Amino acid sequence: MNIRDSEIMAQSLSRYGYVEGMDLQDADLVILNTCSIRAKAEQKVMSLLGYLRKTKEKRPDMKICVAGCVAQQEGKTIIDRMPHVDLIIGTQNIYKIGEYLLDAEHGGNRVKTNMEDQYKIPAFLPDVPSEGADAADDNAPFQFSRFVTIMQGCNNYCTYCVVPYTRGREVSRRAQDIVDEVALLVRSGVKEITLLGQNVNSYARTNEVHCENSNYNFSSLLREVSAVKGLKRLRFTTSNPKDLTDELMSCFKDVDNLCPQFHLPVQSGSDAVLKAMNRKYSVEQYLGQVEKLREYCPSISISTDIIVGFPGETDEDFEGTMELLEKVQYHGSFSFKYSDRPGTRSSEFENKVDEEVKSKRLARFQARQDEIGLERNKEFIGQEKEILVETVSETSVKGRTNTNHIVHVNEPVDTKPGELLRVKINFAGQHSLKGELV
Ligand code: SAM
Ligand code: SF4
Repeated sequence: MNIRDSEIMAQSLSRYGYVEGMDLQDADLVILNTCSIRAKAEQKVMSLLGYLRKTKEKRPDMKICVAGCVAQQEGKTIIDRMPHVDLIIGTQNIYKIGEYLLDAEHGGNRVKTNMEDQYKIPAFLPDVPSEGADAADDNAPFQFSRFVTIMQGCNNYCTYCVVPYTRGREVSRRAQDIVDEVALLVRSGVKEITLLGQNVNSYARTNEVHCENSNYNFSSLLREVSAVKGLKRLRFTTSNPKDLTDELMSCFKDVDNLCPQFHLPVQSGSDAVLKAMNRKYSVEQYLGQVEKLREYCPSISISTDIIVGFPGETDEDFEGTMELLEKVQYHGSFSFKYSDRPGTRSSEFENKVDEEVKSKRLARFQARQDEIGLERNKEFIGQEKEILVETVSETSVKGRTNTNHIVHVNEPVDTKPGELLRVKINFAGQHSLKGELV
């Protein structure tokens, strides 16, 4: 989501004459697009801002802008403590970044974090550059895989999570706007689209998305987007299991360009912990969903998010998470130590787990996941797969399977980024596969 927000800011600013670049030393404007999901991410922002103070002392004309969730939550404190910051831009204000920068330059308010209960994603996002003319930087490669935001915010209030506070109430974007944006991207050369939202499964639940069909839901959107002519691959993220329907799972059986890949965050393998997290599903229900997904699509690659050391998590609860890992045999997972976030309900819970215990549990979980991930990767050996080419050199090609596995082909191939190649997998490592051209 942050990647897409950064793109939107860059695209908006190109209309104001800004050119995207990565070199801090030459930059006229530095934007820190921040994440506050865990305390560690927020600490990094604060230390980077300290470093930028020194850069700005040498180049006082350089502008510094802080965007994203840390800006939304801590914006007023940052501007009071760090006078070298020129603009704070909240999660719902990114679409007007150019206008707000000009306003701040002319003495206007430097903190733009207002959130209103209204639809904020504009119908038409900034123009999409076409293949061969990507970004203002001529050297930037065209991105054949793009994200499209379908909703913002979240209403679920999982007790540990800061998102409902930093990104506001859940609002779904108009279906027609989404389909139009996808069609525009595909016409410009994009091959793969990932639909984005905090809980895509509840798309169209909280507001009208202007469709004739009042039962329009995420499955309807998925089918409509999949029918965009020329779209080769379709993905989505993220899903909360509590809203996962049979209708959505069945899309994996018959929507041809829907990639066989599902990120289904479970968070814990203990019903008691899931209840304390306010996740609203049980381990048994979750396992039922995994089974069904595999019935509909036997080749589906399933990944998850795990939090270890949630307040009150006992050894027995953690064993439940390890058991779940054995049962599901995930292709991959993102696992984190529980971290207190300001304003969340769990930050007030008293039965916090010792840091050392959290670290041990995380290490044990990750070590076992690594073993399972490698075993799952080895299952690909001998199989023929189609990869979407990402980079090409004189001696090798890198691409991705529809299950989202990276594949290296270490031979010269006459191809270019954005093409689809058939390869036979002959080696599986922890983080990627190797293959040969078929
Ligand atoms: N909407 C998704 C869902 O319902 O599962 C999750 C999106 S959240 C931005 C990404 C992940 O960050 C979560 O799945 C969770 O594992 C992790 N996370 C969120 N808050 C956390 C916290 N306070 N401590 C540790 N991990 C956290
Ligand atoms: Fe956070 Fe996801 Fe829960 Fe929303 S559904 S509160 S984004 S973890």
